Order: sequence, then C-alpha cells, then structure tokens
Amino acid sequence: MDTWDNTTNEAIQPPKGQLPSGRELQRKDWVTLNRARAKVGKTASTLHKWKLRPNSECPCGNQNQTMDHILSECTERPHCTDQDLSDCTDAAQAWITHWRDKI
Ligand SMILES: [Zn+2]
Repeated sequence: MDTWDNTTNEAIQPPKGQLPSGRELQRKDWVTLNRARAKVGKTASTLHKWKLRPNSECPCGNQNQTMDHILSECTERPHCTDQDLSDCTDAAQAWITHWRDKI
C-alpha cells in the first residue's frame, strides 16, 4: 500500500462561503495581503524580537519597523489603510507589490 495515496484532493476542504477580497491575487501577493491584515509579517521589529536581526530599524530611519509603520508611516513607501487591505484596493495592491518579497 502506498501511503502517498492519502494525499488526494479529498484532503482539501472546499472553502465555506465567500473568501475575503483579493483571492484573485497570485499566491505570494495573497499571503502578503493576509499578513498585512493580520499584522504578522516579518518586519524588522518581529525579526529583531526573534533575534534574527541586530535591530528593528526600518531603511527609512525609523527605529521600530512594525507592520503599522510600513502600512501608514514609512516615508519611502506606499501606504494603505486597513480598509484598503479589507477591500484589496489599488492602494493595497501597490503596497503588496512593494512589500511582498520583504515581509
Ligand atoms: Zn520606514
């Protein structure tokens, strides 16, 4: 018996109800969008907390690069609001394009 036979599509439950907006995005963009929505990205602040970085500085000079910082404060980057993230607006997508490989 081949145990790999267990990994059929039956293991993947169909989603119940409507997924949030943005589901048409490519996977990497979708992941970035949901990290931003959940405020759990690999920002400098988080990496510093995990001892994977010597400091939590943002390239813009801010001392603490949190998700809120890169969403709404960072001086060198596009910004977007929670509402943009929720609706997956053009602003949210511009933000995702900038950050998807960084967080
Ligand atoms: Zn910054």
